[in-house]
Amino acid sequence: MSLLTYLHLYNTETRKKEKILPKDGKTLRIYTCGPTIYNYAHIGNFRTYIFEDLLRRVLKYFGFSVKQVMNITDIDDKTINGAIEKKVSLHEYTEPFRQAFFDDITTLNIEKAEFYPKATQYIEQMIDIIVKLLDRKIAYKGSDGSIYFSIAKFKDYGKLSHLDLKSLKKGASNRISSDEYEKENASDFVLWKAYVEKRDGDIFWNSPFGKGRPGWHIECSAMALKLLGSKIDIHCGGVDNIFPHHENEIAQSETFTNEKFVIHWAHAEHLIVDGKKMSKSLNNFYTLRDLLSMGFSGRDIRYMLMNSHYRTQLNFTFDGLKASKASIQRILDFAERLKSIKDENSNNLVEKIIEKEKKRFIESLTDDLNISLALSSLFDLIREINHLIDDKKISKKEALKTLKFLKEIDQVLGFIFIDKKEEIPQIVQEAFEKRKDARKNKNFALADELRDFLFDHGYIIEDLPDGARLKKK
Ligand code: AMP
Ligand code: ZN
Repeated sequence: MSLLTYLHLYNTETRKKEKILPKDGKTLRIYTCGPTIYNYAHIGNFRTYIFEDLLRRVLKYFGFSVKQVMNITDIDDKTINGAIEKKVSLHEYTEPFRQAFFDDITTLNIEKAEFYPKATQYIEQMIDIIVKLLDRKIAYKGSDGSIYFSIAKFKDYGKLSHLDLKSLKKGASNRISSDEYEKENASDFVLWKAYVEKRDGDIFWNSPFGKGRPGWHIECSAMALKLLGSKIDIHCGGVDNIFPHHENEIAQSETFTNEKFVIHWAHAEHLIVDGKKMSKSLNNFYTLRDLLSMGFSGRDIRYMLMNSHYRTQLNFTFDGLKASKASIQRILDFAERLKSIKDENSNNLVEKIIEKEKKRFIESLTDDLNISLALSSLFDLIREINHLIDDKKISKKEALKTLKFLKEIDQVLGFIFIDKKEEIPQIVQEAFEKRKDARKNKNFALADELRDFLFDHGYIIEDLPDGARLKKK
């Protein structure tokens, strides 16, 4: 790869493609807004996470080191409602969904971020920020006892979403206590929600400004600043995060630090169904599990979510998913065909083809992650080399070189050579290891419990003379 390979990524704030370089000259610090673990994530959410995975993989492929944080929202109206309804603690309610999220990430072969902090672990940092904002009189206590951020006091409010505050001010209510709202309702937003017994049950934290819990926006500021510092290189999310969530993150963080919060903002467009955003509230969603149970694989779904440009809406259809499955099959068949080549004949064309398509592959990605173009260079290579195989004009050595090239670009694509072990969800792998230990320690009760647990997750254990083996049911 040329030493001069840089990604030029579109910046939502400046509305221009800009060269990505680490601020500290060493590591790219990336913050990505993560899931709210009140339910399973749907494949719309995963479109955004796959975009972030592509970004991360491309940057690493281009030789940069990356430090990525993805927050896990385990406290908001939805998680609290769920816990109260089920009469369990917040942790008991959210933990299975957190585990499920990691299983799904593994299935989709999404690379792990360096940190997955939970909001409930950062309440203290959130309180610290709110205290300072109160001191500066940019936050205030509302008549309902909650703490609000006064957007009129932050002169740059609206800079990310290109919002003209003056045109919105009239008619907008003074303040808003719900975390999600539209631009038309731009108004003072909540930092700390005062405790309401009926709504919150026994879920609350104490703070200098009374019993309650944080609003949603403050959590990302607290975790981002704590784990990455200010002037974060890249902050990502879906386009629905631009307003109000990211706008509010900027206001809180920049008031707190007096420094620029984020250098580069990147947002993925939505996965849509019949022209509407896939979402829980519209009940037009599929989870990953839904699609797996219909016979699609993690790599089929990964391909489908990845193969169109992240800044265009992606219309979900089963025909589209079937086409992705066929594309994956074409790539896998090609790889198998290469492995079977024994000939020594050569036309000395393979190297040139690889060189040409590799250049196109890289150039496409440098231009705002143009994955569709990058994939077309892969399919051109497959077509051209398939012709050479048909004509017996490729040697074994050249076939191995081609496979090496596929392995190289799979650092970015992540859907060709998936390690079988990796396809096993982490939680299952861990339970399997624990069971091995339990048997070694003759703790048969625990071993049986773990066997049942694995069975519930779709796996059976075969105890063979040379050790235990895990098999899908
Ligand atoms: P949420 O759990 O709703 O906060 O969403 C988690 C992440 O998924 C956020 O970055 C959202 O922007 C993103 N997201 C939600 N719905 C979709 C969708 N239909 N298409 C793409 N991204 C989405
Ligand atoms: Zn966030």
